[in-house]
Amino acid sequence: MDMPERLANERRKRLAAERLLDQKSRELFEANRRLAQHARTLSDEIIETRQTAEELRGQNSLVLSELAEVSQEADVAKQRLWDSLETVKDGFALFDAQDRLVIANRAYLSVFDGLEAVMPGVRYDEIVRLTVEEGIVDIGDRDPLGWIENMLTRWHEEPVPPRVIRLWSGDYIKLVDRRTPSGDMVCLSMNITEMMRMWAAVEAIPDGFVLYDHDDRLVMCNDRYRDFYAESAPAMQPGNRFEDILRFGIEKGQYPEAQGREEEWLSERLNRHHSPEGMIEQRLADGRWLRILEERTPDGGLVGLRVDITEQKRQQEALDRARVAAEAANRAKSAFLANMSHELRTPMNGVVGMAELLCETELNEEQRLYSQTIKESGEALLSLLNDVLDYSKIEADKLQLHPEPFDLERTIYEIVMLLQAPARDKQLDVLIDYDMFLPTWFTGDRGRVRQVLTNLIGNAVKFTAQGHVLVRVVGFEVEEGAVQQVHITVEDTGIGIAEDMQEHIFGEFNQVEDQQNRKFEGTGLGLAITKRLIEMMGGEIWLESEKGEGACFGFRLPLPVAEERDALPSPQTAEVRHVLVVDDQEVNRTILERQLSQLGLDVTCHVTAETALGDAASADLILTDHRMPGMDGYAFARALRRSGYAGPILMLTSNPSHLGRTGENAESGIDLVLQKPVLRRALYEAISTVTPAIAPKPVPPLRQMRVLAAEDNRTNRLVLQKMVSGLNVDMRFAADGNEAIAAFRDSRPDLIFMDISMPECDGKEATGAIRRIEAEEGDLPVPIVALTAHALQGDAEEILAAGLDACLTKPLRKSDILGTIEAHHPETCAPLHPDAPEAGTDPAAAPDGDAEAQPRLRAI
Ligand code: ADP
Repeated sequence: MDMPERLANERRKRLAAERLLDQKSRELFEANRRLAQHARTLSDEIIETRQTAEELRGQNSLVLSELAEVSQEADVAKQRLWDSLETVKDGFALFDAQDRLVIANRAYLSVFDGLEAVMPGVRYDEIVRLTVEEGIVDIGDRDPLGWIENMLTRWHEEPVPPRVIRLWSGDYIKLVDRRTPSGDMVCLSMNITEMMRMWAAVEAIPDGFVLYDHDDRLVMCNDRYRDFYAESAPAMQPGNRFEDILRFGIEKGQYPEAQGREEEWLSERLNRHHSPEGMIEQRLADGRWLRILEERTPDGGLVGLRVDITEQKRQQEALDRARVAAEAANRAKSAFLANMSHELRTPMNGVVGMAELLCETELNEEQRLYSQTIKESGEALLSLLNDVLDYSKIEADKLQLHPEPFDLERTIYEIVMLLQAPARDKQLDVLIDYDMFLPTWFTGDRGRVRQVLTNLIGNAVKFTAQGHVLVRVVGFEVEEGAVQQVHITVEDTGIGIAEDMQEHIFGEFNQVEDQQNRKFEGTGLGLAITKRLIEMMGGEIWLESEKGEGACFGFRLPLPVAEERDALPSPQTAEVRHVLVVDDQEVNRTILERQLSQLGLDVTCHVTAETALGDAASADLILTDHRMPGMDGYAFARALRRSGYAGPILMLTSNPSHLGRTGENAESGIDLVLQKPVLRRALYEAISTVTPAIAPKPVPPLRQMRVLAAEDNRTNRLVLQKMVSGLNVDMRFAADGNEAIAAFRDSRPDLIFMDISMPECDGKEATGAIRRIEAEEGDLPVPIVALTAHALQGDAEEILAAGLDACLTKPLRKSDILGTIEAHHPETCAPLHPDAPEAGTDPAAAPDGDAEAQPRLRAI
């Protein structure tokens, strides 16, 4: 290579180098510029950053201080939370995901009673094991390992089921455990001992117990409840609705009564359930009976009890069956009694009637004793029969009352008349004191009032040996002029009744059974019947008595006043101003004095005839008793006449044989003899009769009382005929109803005895016809007394309804027949005992003089 080329090369190289250098220096320059620029930006940024850093630093310290504050607050909150957990009495514990105890409150730990191992970090399974080993938990006779395993299995279930454990102390703890999303386990343990006790109690009661909430969902029920409703039991889960449980039961056939009408039954049952009142009885499918008691609870829920009343039901059903059977038996008994009494009466008619007649024939002493015994036994049997029959009627509620207008004073009078015979034999005075301001006509069941009075007055006569029996009648107006509270007392001077016996004697078959009393006959049914009758009539009976001092039985009856049929006659007493009353008995004197004063007369009373004699001159009328100590009525009359007394003398006697102005009466100068007790009417009429003012009136010859007896049976006619043979009556017989009607038209009798069952036209028909005749002709009704062998209530009702006035049941007793005749004897007729025999041989008296004989005018 040549030199120039080499130089060119070199130069080219240099040039290139110079260009490169130039480029590089430009690049360097540019870089420098950029660097400077960058440096400037950078320094700006640094300044900015520095500033930011400064700011941040400031902010940081703020945050930090806030953070410190927050963490402080968190600490406080944590502490408070913890404090709270410490104060609750339920146990609280927290386990981590590895089942290690993190924290536990005091209540939780207290169960372990200072066991050191139980502290944070201890595993759950360790705790469970310890509780068993240390005997903290009472596992009963269960296998410890099994128990532990069971507890641990439960711990890992999701969700963990609640569990109740029992501690050694007897306390019950309910464990409720929940796992948190992070895997921790929160544990609560509650002491439910109190609740368990209550629950144990609820389980212990023998009744079913159930509680529903306000939404009708089952809260709880005891085993007994489940047991009762065994078919529905599976549906009895807390939370289930009552209706669903019922439906479940219906499907399973739990309620027999729902069968075939399920929906209807359900709605009835739900209605009762929603507004519970009272109790219901329910039959279960297994035949048991439940009583359901339901009550609302304050929170709107419902608490219910189910009581097993199967046994009660069984007894009740047995009782019902027994009652039905007893009622049937009772009806059969009543019918039997009625039939029997009818059947018994018919032959008894012959026995008693004939024995009575036999006694009146000539008999030697032995024969008299025998026939007497037959008669007495027959009568006792009859009275027993009547009482038992009456009582069985009351018992069977068959007895009905038949109110009708009746004369109370006369009713009492008739009873007293019937009792005269036994009273007279004991020289007892039976007196009536009828309040003079009291009306005499009332509306009531005359027959029953008569029965009550007959029992009380009969008892008084029976249990009184001497003295008197006083029937006192007073009234208190309840409604002016309409209803009277009539008080009737029957007072006697007899043996009396000890206080401790006074309740007793009103019971059935009860008597004062001491030796003294056993000598009196009787069933002990009379007062029981009397009491029931008075109560049926709306009244009340009472007794006041002292042993040995006599008895006073009283009763009150509300009785409507009936129109007075025939007003009391007002005697014409123009000539009589001053009346002398002579009687040794104070009650008698008082009664007479009151009755006479009512007429406006001056009355002077004397206890003895002897003192009265001195007073006689001033008297216009003298009323004397028959039997008095010292001078008796006859002697007194004779003495009066001897002394020149010319006025009328009336004598009162208990002995009907002294009635009539005959024999001794006329001879002694007595104008009229009246039988005690004297009805006011009879007394006033008697005064009119003997008073000089009307005395001049020619007294027409008195006709005989006319008695008609309709009876188809010849023997009975014979018995009747014989019974009245001693009486001054015109007795006619009719053999059937038609004959009776004809005889009535023909002779207009004063009294009719009417047999009920007669062929062709019976007694009821005949009576109806007679009543029609009377009504047509405007006559007063004649008393018609039925004679019947029927003792049935229904018969008696029909008899009275047919227009008869009273009823005598066969067999007929002489005293009944005579008593009835005497009671209806018109004053205008000739006396019944014209040829009065000597005192003591009175044909009207019971021939035997039986002191205990009871009247037997059985009214209905
Ligand atoms: P009964 O007279 O048939 O025995 P009651 O029922 O009429 O039956 O009387 C019951 C008892 O009451 C009588 O047995 C008698 O002991 C007693 N009693 C009744 N009335 C009287 C009385 N007035 N005086 C004394 N005791 C009486």
